[in-house]
Amino acid sequence: MNPAAERIDFSASLGYAGFLGESRKNAVAEVSRAANRKLKENMKRVYLDNNATTQLAPEVFEAMRPYWLEDYGNASSIHWFGQRAKAAMEKAREQVARLLNARASEIVFTSGGTESDNAALFGIVEAARGERKHVVSTAIEHHAVLNAAKALEKRGVSVTYVRVGAGGVVDPADIERALRPETVLISVMHANNELGTIQPLEEIGRLAGERDIYFHTDAVQSAGKIPVDVGRLGVDMLSLSAHKLHGPKGVGALYIRKGTILRPLMHGGHHERDRRPGTENVAGIVGLGVAAELGLAHMPEELDRVAALRDRLEAGILERVPRVTVNGDRTRRLPTTTNLAFDYIEGEGFVIAMDLRGIACSTGAACSSGSLEPSHVLSAIGLKPEQARASIRFSLGRFTTPEDIDTTLHILPAVVEQLRSVSPHYRSAVTSDK
Ligand code: PLP
Repeated sequence: MNPAAERIDFSASLGYAGFLGESRKNAVAEVSRAANRKLKENMKRVYLDNNATTQLAPEVFEAMRPYWLEDYGNASSIHWFGQRAKAAMEKAREQVARLLNARASEIVFTSGGTESDNAALFGIVEAARGERKHVVSTAIEHHAVLNAAKALEKRGVSVTYVRVGAGGVVDPADIERALRPETVLISVMHANNELGTIQPLEEIGRLAGERDIYFHTDAVQSAGKIPVDVGRLGVDMLSLSAHKLHGPKGVGALYIRKGTILRPLMHGGHHERDRRPGTENVAGIVGLGVAAELGLAHMPEELDRVAALRDRLEAGILERVPRVTVNGDRTRRLPTTTNLAFDYIEGEGFVIAMDLRGIACSTGAACSSGSLEPSHVLSAIGLKPEQARASIRFSLGRFTTPEDIDTTLHILPAVVEQLRSVSPHYRSAVTSDK
């Protein structure tokens, strides 16, 4: 018997989701025991959570290796070791610049997307003159931008969070309406991490340019996956993160257009031309550089290959499972991402049930301090809390194979069926349909 087709006991995952009313602690222990048993059976695992993080590309790992072991100098040192590190870092700067069609001197290395976003928002606002300062962003930003904006609000900055339509795409006219004479910054993400929807940056860039307002974009989910050209998009700052493009975790970059005035987030040495103090993570930066180069090199074929796999997964699910809808605009989307609402399932229970079968995906919902808050992105596109909690994100990457999609399509319908079979709401809905 195909182990994938075998039915498994979902009581553990259901308990975890709170359906059986068990204490969460015991349920978690039970789930992890069940997961361990499955691990021991050496099952095939499928990773469909590439928007959370990606597998490190082997070439990236190999490129980084010498900078951990032999070329361990501090890039600020004047001796041979230091100069080796510095040269490697400058090569990486060129590679990242090429990915964005920017100049190497406009790239500042950071600890990742969160730092880049914070550096852009705080940096611009703190450097801006005037008593009253206003920032325009959107309701669907990642928390790295949203919470930075909220922290600015606590410091007296006024922030407008522009709403999006049901498609999860912001209307540039709404951005325009939100602008005020004292607006110092517009920050709109390039691709949304939950829905994959791509925002109309070119139009917003034009609005910002005409009014001399700085424009930042969080391109953490798009860089290395779809073309990103800072000139074409009209952005002054752009955040990216290595671990989303098959590079290492804890390293990223902020593109800062020449002439942009921003105050550094931290105080320290003169690294990164006084724009970001701290000894650089040389190995990580080398990894980011190679990941950027590989992302660019693979892009022409990957755009179609991964979109075809995503479409096959999406169509396969819609064909096999009733009462499923696609969240967000399907045309303006990353090729890697689909977000689906499965009526009458509870997202977290689904993720655990799939994980027990070897498939990693994720909910759109963020779990904060034990209470399940529906995702702010799914709420922003008008989903009811129960629809948001029934939504699952599948995100593919360069290492996703057709076999991964086949395995998922083989396993998923039974998982949904079994979860729905314990939902009284589903049973009554099915009965009333008859
Ligand atoms: N921005 C977006 C859109 C993201 O998806 C993420 C990561 O999930 C971040 C920012 C934060 O990046 P990092 O994990 O490198 O701090």
